Amino acid sequence: MGGETMPNLDLRDYISQLSNDDLVVINEPVTRDYDITALCMELDKKNYDKVLLFKNIKDYDMPIVTNLFASRERILQMIGCTEKDFSKKWLKAEENRIKPLVVPTGPVHEIVQRDMEINVCDLPIMRHFETDAGRYVTSGVVVAKDPETGIRNLSFHRLMIKANNKMGISLHSRQHLWNYLNAAQERKMPLEIAVIIGAHPLVILAASAKTSIEVDEYDIAGALLGEPLELVKGKTIDVEYPANAEIVLEGRILPDIFEDEGPFGEYTGYSTSRSTRNVFEISAICHRQNPYYVSIVAGPSADHLNLMRVAKEALVWERLKERIPTVRRIHYPKSGVNFHCIVSMAPGAVGAVRQALMLLFGLDPYLKLVIAVDEDIDITDESAVMWALATRMQGDQDIFIVPKVFTNRLDPSSSEGMGAKVGIDATTPPNSDAIKLEVNPLHLEQISAILNDMK
Ligand code: MN
Repeated sequence: MGGETMPNLDLRDYISQLSNDDLVVINEPVTRDYDITALCMELDKKNYDKVLLFKNIKDYDMPIVTNLFASRERILQMIGCTEKDFSKKWLKAEENRIKPLVVPTGPVHEIVQRDMEINVCDLPIMRHFETDAGRYVTSGVVVAKDPETGIRNLSFHRLMIKANNKMGISLHSRQHLWNYLNAAQERKMPLEIAVIIGAHPLVILAASAKTSIEVDEYDIAGALLGEPLELVKGKTIDVEYPANAEIVLEGRILPDIFEDEGPFGEYTGYSTSRSTRNVFEISAICHRQNPYYVSIVAGPSADHLNLMRVAKEALVWERLKERIPTVRRIHYPKSGVNFHCIVSMAPGAVGAVRQALMLLFGLDPYLKLVIAVDEDIDITDESAVMWALATRMQGDQDIFIVPKVFTNRLDPSSSEGMGAKVGIDATTPPNSDAIKLEVNPLHLEQISAILNDMK
C-alpha cells in the first residue's frame, strides 16, 4: 500500500467517455480492405467527424477504431483547452514535460507472441486504395532510442505487410528517427523499434510534436496527460512503450537492407512511391486481450491532416503573433492539404500584411499559398475567403511569388524539393470606398419565426 497510483487513462477509457455526438458504433459487417476506407472517404467529404468504431470486421475478432482526430473540437477537448488558449497550452506541454515511469508489467503484455507465433496478418491491417502496394498500418507510432544519447523519439511512419514477421517502412520525412537509423547504420547495427498501434489519443498526439532531437516525446505525453506515462520494457528489445497500449510490434530496422515499399495513398490525395525502402523485422507482437486496432484514415482526410498539423500550428501561431500583433487567427483549409494557410488581420502598419505572409512561409516551410483577409471574413469558410479574393484583390498588385524555395516533395507539382511561394493580400485596399452589404440583426430577429418554420 502507499505510493500506489491510479493507472493512466487508456484508449478504452477515452472511448467509453465519448458521447453519441462524438462516437458512432458500426455493427454491420465490413471487410477491412477498401470498404472501411470507402466509407471513411465518403463521410470525410461531408465533414462527418465522429469517431468510428467498427465492431464487426469480416474474418477478424478485433474491432477497428478510426477518425479519432477528425474533429478539431475533439482534439481541443483531449488537450483540455479552447481554440483561444490552444497554442499556449500545447507549447506549455512541450516546455513543462513530465518524465515517464517504468512499471514492471502492464495490460499490453497480456498476450506476447514470439518466433513462430508471430503473424502480423492476424491483425486487421487494411488495404486502403487499389494503387497501394499492399496492406498498411497508418497509425503506427514508432519508438526508438538514439544510439548515441539514448534519448527516445516517437514518430509516425507508414508500415506495409511483407511477410508474417516483416514489414516495409518509410522514413521519407527524414527527421529524428532517420538520424537514429543513420547512427545505427554507422555502427553496422540494426535499430530496435517498438510500433505502438493504439494508445490514449494524447500519446498519439504527442508523437506529432516537432521539438528538438533532445526531447523525449513520452515526456510531452506526460505533460498532456498531467501525470507520468507508465511504460513497460520490451520483451525482445531495449525500448519501452505504454503499459496500456493496445498492440505493440517489437523488432528491428535492418541495416543496409532495402526493399521496395509503396506506392501508398498519401495525405496529398495522390499515390506516391517516395520511400526510404527500409525493412522492419518483427521479433514479438504484444497486445492486450481483445485489443482495439487503431487506424488513421488514409488519404487527404481530416483525421490524417489534423493529426499531422496540431503541434506545428501551435508553434506557427505563437511565433506569428509575437512578431505581427495585428494578426487575429490562422486556418489551414482542408482542401489545401496543409499546404495552404489563411490569416485574418486587423488594419496595421503599412506593409504588415506582406510581412505576415512572408513570416508564415518562414515558420512553415511546407506552405505554398498564404492568403491574408480582413477580420470580417470567416477564415474557416472557404467561399467567404474566395469572395474576399473576388472583391478585394487585384492580381497585378496584391500577389507576390517567390520561386524555387524549399517545399514539400509530396506535392506532385513541386520539382527537386523546390516550389514557388505565393502570397496574396486580399485585405481591403486602403483607399476603398466600397460599402459592404450587411443585414441588420433587428431585421433578422423579425423574420426568425418564418425562418425557423422553413427549416
Ligand atoms: Mn523527436
